[in-house]
Amino acid sequence: MIVLGGGPAGLAVGYYARKYGIPFTVFEASDRTGGNCITFTHGKFRFDSGAHRFHDKAHEVTAEMQGLLDGDFEKIDAPSSIFFRGRFIDFPLSPLNLMSKLGLPAFFRAGLQLLAARVSRKGKNESFEDFAVHTYGKSIAEFFLLGYSEKLWGLPSGRLSPAIAGNRMKGLDLKVFVKEAVLGRKAKTEHLDGAFYYPSRGIGTIPEKLASFCGEEGIRKNARVTRIIHDKKRIRAVELNGEEIIGTDFVVSTLPLDLFLRMMDPLPGRDILRLSRSLRYRSIILTAFFLDKELVSENASIYFPDPDILFTRIHEPKNRSKKMSPAGKTSLVVEIPCQLDDAVWKMPDDRLILSVRSKLIQAGLMSKNEIIGSVVKRMPYAYPVLEIDFEEKLRPVRGFLNDFHNLSFSGRNGRFVYGHIHNMMKMGSEIVEEYRLKNINVSRYEFQK
Ligand SMILES: Cc1cc2nc3c(=O)[nH]c(=O)nc-3n(C[C@H](O)[C@H](O)[C@H](O)COP(=O)(O)OP(=O)(O)OC[C@H]3O[C@@H](n4cnc5c(N)ncnc54)[C@H](O)[C@@H]3O)c2cc1C
Repeated sequence: MIVLGGGPAGLAVGYYARKYGIPFTVFEASDRTGGNCITFTHGKFRFDSGAHRFHDKAHEVTAEMQGLLDGDFEKIDAPSSIFFRGRFIDFPLSPLNLMSKLGLPAFFRAGLQLLAARVSRKGKNESFEDFAVHTYGKSIAEFFLLGYSEKLWGLPSGRLSPAIAGNRMKGLDLKVFVKEAVLGRKAKTEHLDGAFYYPSRGIGTIPEKLASFCGEEGIRKNARVTRIIHDKKRIRAVELNGEEIIGTDFVVSTLPLDLFLRMMDPLPGRDILRLSRSLRYRSIILTAFFLDKELVSENASIYFPDPDILFTRIHEPKNRSKKMSPAGKTSLVVEIPCQLDDAVWKMPDDRLILSVRSKLIQAGLMSKNEIIGSVVKRMPYAYPVLEIDFEEKLRPVRGFLNDFHNLSFSGRNGRFVYGHIHNMMKMGSEIVEEYRLKNINVSRYEFQK
């Protein structure tokens, strides 16, 4: 079995293959594994490639992780907040806090719209905008969801699929809202922005441990896949770095789907290529600031829906684990979503830092004299962009790929799903399980519902 890409998805396949004694090699283009799920170091500071948390959504996967990490996997319970019109609002939204921050008239208007939306439940949810307005009412949708999503995904919310909501909207659950109104902020509510699991030395520990379980012989770094050679029924071989040909009985690809199709030899038909080219991916620029300050806030994340602010979210690594910053110091990591051809992707680091720095100072999160360092990191292919018609575009592509008997896909960009680490682990386990049971062709190519 060969696995294309050494991010969490590819490493998860390797991990389960190794567990069952199936021979495999993971081919990774860069000189490190982990993909977009790593922990950077800067002196004694550590910070993740974006605000990661491990969600306990599949208990068997969480248990597997506990084992893999030797128990170095703490449950963290930290609040978040939204920076809205110059004020910080608690997230998940809580009635009293919202009332004090929005003012009575806006709060009651939003509350009535929310109730009306829940009672009438009318209208089809063809887009994320429909979903947000029909579920939360116009004001809450406009204040907190639509502008934020447009910045994150780079499209008007009327063009975005309701699938982008994923499980992220639990912090806006009406039941949670009412429960907290009755029982107060301390009500025990389950929401995505509450408890999560986290390794003490950063999220990158997960792929690191997966990679060491795969073993050195299971992974080849600096091995960029450049061609996928097939006979229209089976993948016969892959080409590495434009020169070396490796034969294969079975391939699992976690590479961006359009890249995989463009590397196929012979090439797929023009229609398939046109459809796959129209699938878009979002990239992320991170700017990290290292501060001579004990703590900025208690928040796990702070969200910025304001369209005039370049970034969508910041996190303070120390609120995930104290080991992420040296004693007495902290850091802030800012996420700027963009396309690879946007001017901001090519903007020089010092200009990016200046522009983000001034907004963070304005928001009162840090002052100039507290900054002891800053750095910029760029992460291409961070999210597949789920446009309203993405499933229609994918259907023929999936049909074409289903004809290959020894090919399977995993990963965010490989399957074109908005998945998380626990999903990658499940995908890896299922692929290996089927391969093991049938000892061949896991040709399924499924969409995550
Ligand atoms: C900002 C951000 C926040 C996130 N937050 C969370 C979170 O809170 N919780 C959570 O569970 N998950 C989170 N994730 C998702 C998690 O990081 C993903 O599951 C993961 O990065 C996607 O994994 P992947 O292996 O599918 O792809 P990637 O991580 O993109 O890995 C793909 C790999 O393929 C390699 N590659 C590309 N082209 C080639 C080629 N031609 N040949 C060989 N190799 C190649 C790349 O170098 C890369 O290593 C977040 C992701 C981002 C970006």
